[in-house]
Amino acid sequence: MKCLFCEIAEKKRPAKIIYEDELAVAFEDINPQAPVHCLVVPKKHIATSLELEKENNALVGHLFQIANKIAKDRGIAERGFRLVMNCNPESGQTVFHIHLHILGGRIMHWPPG
Ligand code: 5GP
Ligand code: ZN
Repeated sequence: MKCLFCEIAEKKRPAKIIYEDELAVAFEDINPQAPVHCLVVPKKHIATSLELEKENNALVGHLFQIANKIAKDRGIAERGFRLVMNCNPESGQTVFHIHLHILGGRIMHWPPG
């Protein structure tokens, strides 16, 4: 089977898409862990952050720019929000196509579970 997030990016699988450009999409997480829980996903398939090469540096910066825009649009920028990218199984990564979680709208705890 093809990658879940490639399929969402290619519109072969439904998702509540909230942002899209030529390089990335952002959509609502199907199982939200906070009042705001969105995922920012590059259209290019990269399995984990360990596979990021120098040539991807601008792309990663772009994902953060999108996350900032969404946080501002959702009114959580000033209150605070958390950006998370899990890497490999012990972190909790379950979808092996990199994605930035945007979590906000409630107080976040530290250390994370
Ligand atoms: P990870 O655990 O890999 O860091 O995060 C994967 C995230 O993708 C989880 O928060 C999970 O709820 C979300 N997710 C998994 N499958 C789908 C799906 O089909 N659609 C959407 N919108 N989110 C998904
Ligand atoms: Zn993929």
